[in-house]
Amino acid sequence: MNQPCEIDISVVVPIYNEEENLDYLFDRLCRNLDKIGLTYEIVCVNDGSRDRSLVELIRHHQQNSAIKVVNLSRNFGKEIALTAGIDYARGRGVVPIDADLQDPPELIEIMVNKWKEGYDVVYAKRRARQGETWFKRFTANNFYRIIGRMSDVPIPRDTGDFRLMDRRVVEALKQLPERNRFMKGLFAWVGFEQIAIEYDRDRRYAGTTKWNYWKLWNFALDGIAAFSSLPLKIWSYLGLAISLLSMIYAGFLIVRTVISGIDVPGYASLMVAVLFLGGVQLISLGAIGEYLGRIYEEVKKRPLYFVRDTYGL
Ligand code: UDP
Ligand code: MG
Repeated sequence: MNQPCEIDISVVVPIYNEEENLDYLFDRLCRNLDKIGLTYEIVCVNDGSRDRSLVELIRHHQQNSAIKVVNLSRNFGKEIALTAGIDYARGRGVVPIDADLQDPPELIEIMVNKWKEGYDVVYAKRRARQGETWFKRFTANNFYRIIGRMSDVPIPRDTGDFRLMDRRVVEALKQLPERNRFMKGLFAWVGFEQIAIEYDRDRRYAGTTKWNYWKLWNFALDGIAAFSSLPLKIWSYLGLAISLLSMIYAGFLIVRTVISGIDVPGYASLMVAVLFLGGVQLISLGAIGEYLGRIYEEVKKRPLYFVRDTYGL
């Protein structure tokens, strides 16, 4: 498993429709990596782009053999593309980075310095988020708060996939077999000596984000389902609380009937109770469904991705 690495740093870039970014990306990446003075490779994963990204990638690969390309058979989503890239990376340290230059390559040098000090993971924590709406910032903030409370392992706030991982960590990550790849969580789950460096997240250089709110919502659900079973457990407690309350209410009704005789009206309170309980039951079924669906995905044991071809690997 552990063949000796001849390359110091592998930079892994998931790419989905990023044709306008590639020239500038490689220019800036190579300039920064050359400055560090270690050997490197740039593993680009073409995640089923529908624009000219693949053609551009192959052209870059022909000009610079440090740029290597994994071409997936279709669009699998960023998390899987990243996993594929990490599988192919052969460096002693691996750095996942976005193709849109929202993660400044200048930070890699700082990460490498921390890595040399002996840390296994150096992750970049966002101080500011340029070019994002207040709504995105608001939802992101709340997401990190909620998952921080619910998750069994602490997931660092405001941290994306941009980080430097030692080979030890990469090998640990590769042993996690799950299909639901909530990378932020997996990175935290494996542990090791981790340290944060802070940075200001830039705007996208060109193109638009591939995430809409529906995708982000599902991404959040994936994360929560993968790292917490609180949504499953909560229902027994809620059920217990409701049963207790209804017992108290039943006692109250008995006493009242004894004291002031039978009283027929009660349609409104009946309706409220029935509807409320119906709602609670549907929500709990939904929560079970969220997990059941994911269990189904996992037990099918399909391969995470298929590679159509590779260049330079
Ligand atoms: N990406 C990908 N597959 C996808 C969507 C995105 O490989 O299905 C890549 C994309 O090319 C970019 C990175 O993931 O390099 C981050 O995407 P984006 O900038 O759209 O996300 P954001 O920065 O808005 O979170
Ligand atoms: Mg981006």
